[in-house]
Amino acid sequence: MGPIRPRCRSGNSCAREAVLPNEMVEELSTAARQLASLRRVYKKVCPICGIEFEGIAKRVYDRHACQVKAYRRRMRERQASVRGSSGATR
Ligand SMILES: [Zn+2]
Repeated sequence: MGPIRPRCRSGNSCAREAVLPNEMVEELSTAARQLASLRRVYKKVCPICGIEFEGIAKRVYDRHACQVKAYRRRMRERQASVRGSSGATR
């Protein structure tokens, strides 16, 4: 009645199909390389407090406090520019 499903138990022909085609293997390796580069530690200088620290590529600030400070500063600048351009209505 229903479609016949191939039986897939331990180590027969199904296992061969489970191996990824070359393209996908390559894709996986580039992903792994990207991951490795992300994990790599760089010497950086925090733009907020100027302290030198080591962190992964994504990391910008040495501590969470600096990240928050930068975020608040950015928000304040954005609000100021919005207020300036729109012309305060109140
Ligand atoms: Zn800092």
